[in-house]
Amino acid sequence: MPHHQDIADDTETQSTYECLVCGNIVRADSHPGECPDCDGGFQNRAMSLE
Ligand SMILES: [Zn+2]
Repeated sequence: MPHHQDIADDTETQSTYECLVCGNIVRADSHPGECPDCDGGFQNRAMSLE
């Protein structure tokens, strides 16, 4: 049996999130939840900081 692997690069699994309130930018592999600075919500902003 062929051993099929479908593994993405670890760095490619991270997404960039921006705080909707203060604009704080965080890179994480899962949603960061609330902003540590202002308790605002984060929005995923893919491929915007290249
Ligand atoms: Zn914030």
